[in-house]
Parts: sequence; C-alpha cells; structure tokens
Amino acid sequence: MSPQKFRELRDKAEKQIAAQQHGLENLDRDDLVKVTHELAVHQIELEIQNEELHQSRVAAEQARDRYIDLFDFAPVGYFSLDERGHIVEVNLTGCKKLKMERSNLLKMNFVKFIKPGDTDAFYLYRKKVMESTTRQTRELTMRISDGATFNAQLEGIKTSENTIRLAIIDITELKKASKLKDEFIGMVSHEIKTPLTVIIGALSTVTAEGVTLPEARQLLEDAVAHADILANIVDNLLELSRSQSDRLVLQKEPTDVKWIATSVVNKLRQKSTLHQLVLDIPPGLPLVDIDPLRVERVLSNLVDNAIKYSPDGGEVKIAARKEKENLVVSVSDHGLGISKNDQSRLFQKFQRLDVLVKSSIQGIGLGLNVCRILVEAHGGQIWVESNKGQGSTFSFTIPLGE
Ligand code: ADP
Repeated sequence: MSPQKFRELRDKAEKQIAAQQHGLENLDRDDLVKVTHELAVHQIELEIQNEELHQSRVAAEQARDRYIDLFDFAPVGYFSLDERGHIVEVNLTGCKKLKMERSNLLKMNFVKFIKPGDTDAFYLYRKKVMESTTRQTRELTMRISDGATFNAQLEGIKTSENTIRLAIIDITELKKASKLKDEFIGMVSHEIKTPLTVIIGALSTVTAEGVTLPEARQLLEDAVAHADILANIVDNLLELSRSQSDRLVLQKEPTDVKWIATSVVNKLRQKSTLHQLVLDIPPGLPLVDIDPLRVERVLSNLVDNAIKYSPDGGEVKIAARKEKENLVVSVSDHGLGISKNDQSRLFQKFQRLDVLVKSSIQGIGLGLNVCRILVEAHGGQIWVESNKGQGSTFSFTIPLGE
C-alpha cells in the first residue's frame, strides 16, 4: 500500500473512532478491561485476516503467472481482435509464428497476415465468427513478415460484443503428410493393379478353349512372375511398417552368404533373358550371424533393381569379400547409372529418380530404403558408387563379430 493511501485510511479510521467515542468516558474499569480485551481479539483477528489476504493475493498472482505462461507458451498462436480486426492481444507463440515482436503486432490489422488471395475468405470468416456463439473453423494461407507463407487452421470464437479470439494452428506439415499419403496410396494402388491385371488376364486366358499346352505354360509363368512382383511390393511395405513401429526383430543364425546369393540368382534368373547373373564369391568366407531371410531380401532388392535399371541387359554381378571386420557384399550392373547429385537421396523412402525412368520402369521407391533399414538393423552400412550412363555398384557391409 502506498504511504499516501495508508495516511488516507488512517484518517478515515480516526474519524470513525471519534464519531463512535460518545460515552466512552462513562465506562467503569471492568468495562474498560472488556473493551480492551475485545480490541486485542479484533486486532489478532485482523492480523489473521491480513495474513490470509496476503496468502490469497500471492496465490492469485501465481495463478495469473501460470495462466500467462500457459497462454504464452501454448503450442497454438492466440490472437484477440477488436471490431476493426486489429490485434489487441497476442501470445508469444503467435508472435513467433508471425516472426514479429508483440509490441509491433499490437494494433496491427490481422488481415495483413492473410495471403492476398485469401483476404475475402478471411473477412467472410470473421463476420461468421462475430455473428455466431459457437466456435468457427476455417483453413487459410497466412503470409508472415518475411513473405513466407504457411497453411493455417483458424479456430475463432466471439469473446465480447466487439472482440473475437482466434487460435492459429500451423497445419503445413499435416497438409504435406496428407498429400504424401494420397500420392503414396495412388502410386501403390497403381503398382499393385498392373501385376494384378496381368495375373487375372493370364489365369482367365489359360482356361479358355483352344489354348495349347506351351501357351498355357507361358501364361502360368507370367502369372507367377507377376505374383512375385506383388509379393515383393507387399513384403517391402511390411518391412517398412515393422521398422516404423519398432517391431523389426531379426532371427539371426550363422549363415553362408554364398548360399543366399545363389538362392537369389536362381529365383531372379528367369526374370530376364537379356541379363547374365554372375556370382563372384571366393570359397572359404566365414559364416556370418544374420537373419538369412532379411539379407536375402536386401540382395533380392538390389539384384532386382540391377535388372530393372539396365534395360539393355548385360552382366549383373554379385560379389562378396572379407574386408577388415566386415563382409562386403556388392551388386554391380552396366545400366542407366545415377548422377552424383541423386545418390544421396536414393536410400530415403519413396524416392524415384528421373521422370523417364518413373514412367517406363515400375517401382514405388521403397526397395533401397528397406535395404538400408535391414542392413543397419544388422549393424552394417549401405552405399552406391555410380556415374550417370555407366552402371552402378551397390555395396553393403555385414559385421563379422568376434
Ligand atoms: P523402385 O525401384 O521401386 O523405384 P528403389 O528404392 O529400389 O525403388 O530405388 C529407388 C530409385 O533409385 C529408383 O527409382 C531408381 O531411380 C534408382 N535406382 C535404384 N537402383 C538403381 C540401379 N541399379 N541403377 C540405376 N538407378 C537405380
């Protein structure tokens, strides 16, 4: 309390006591003892009340600070706008989102932060919030002081006759993820539909009248080959999903890599008559402690790519060698090759290079990502050496352990 306020209060109290003092001079000693006792009790009561008041004031201040903290550091930008749409209150998140100091933001017209093409939509939305008693939602593009834009979800509610409060949520990432999901679903559906159409076509033709035995055999081989493509897509998707939900568990056992490479070559040999699949694995390599099915998947993805991305055919070589504490396995082709610029992003999911390749060679851009996930799960590394137009060599390591 300020000294002046204290003086005023004191004067008031003195005046009231003076007004009530009639007859005090007539009190006898006992009465005086009683009055003094009453006064002492009152004084203690007042002190207790004072202490309680002080405590509730501290609690109120703490609650206010907590509210300000919650308001300022909420993950959402909050803005209060007056009847002209000017900012009268904004939290710290809102300032950060618009990259401006609070003192500069206050009194600014909020519409300045709406992308020009969306301003009419914003005015309509603000009118709707002013006229409604319930929360109104709208998605708009906002533009910040440095010219950058972001997708925002606005949640608005009328807070008084003239003011509204807006919560601004940045949904740019959400939109990107949703677009990616739509593209992914479209791409996977397309990649699944193509082999399915072949399988259905082959199986319905095989039963038609007049199909010779060699023709029937060819049709069934086509159906099996395309069923393999389907199985491969689904297997890669399952590996990705397991890894993303931390459910990738390796079933390790001592394994001869040559055995895996031979199995992959035997399975993929019939895929192309243009390519020669060659093994270059010296005898006497140590057994490695690996999940054989997972390493087979890695090799199978790499050899499958080597065939797909060397459309003119040629040799595809699977080699293995011991190098320090690792076994290094590599797959080389003489195909399209990959420019240095593109090499770094190949192992990320859903990355496919070159529009021409995308339109003419099937794939969903997952094989190399799954290879990296499985190799790294074994404690190894995977990389590519390539030049555009000069073929590629993909290599990965498997630690030999003690
Ligand atoms: P997909 O083959 O389904 O597209 P991958 O993840 O296996 O997916 O490969 C990603 C991209 O890397 C391919 O789309 C292709 O552009 C490129 N690529 C992979 N392997 C080779 C290769 N051996 N030669 C040239 N380009 C390759």
